[in-house]
Amino acid sequence: MRGFHCVDPSHDRIEFTGADDDELFRDIKAHTTQAHPQLTDSQIREMIAGAAWWKEVATAGVNAGSSPSAYDR
Ligand SMILES: [Zn+2]
Repeated sequence: MRGFHCVDPSHDRIEFTGADDDELFRDIKAHTTQAHPQLTDSQIREMIAGAAWWKEVATAGVNAGSSPSAYDR
């Protein structure tokens, strides 16, 4: 099972899970379509993979506390 969570001033901490990265992607995509429509599919894939730009966003500023990458759970 893969996990991820999103922290943003516009909503409380939200947890996502999926059997694998593809299922996790669909769960996150359903949320970002509503809450973060500016994120592209490739950006979401990069977030799951733990891209350097996302690690910075996830550990500092308004999104601090978000998962820096997908994790096993
Ligand atoms: Zn969010």
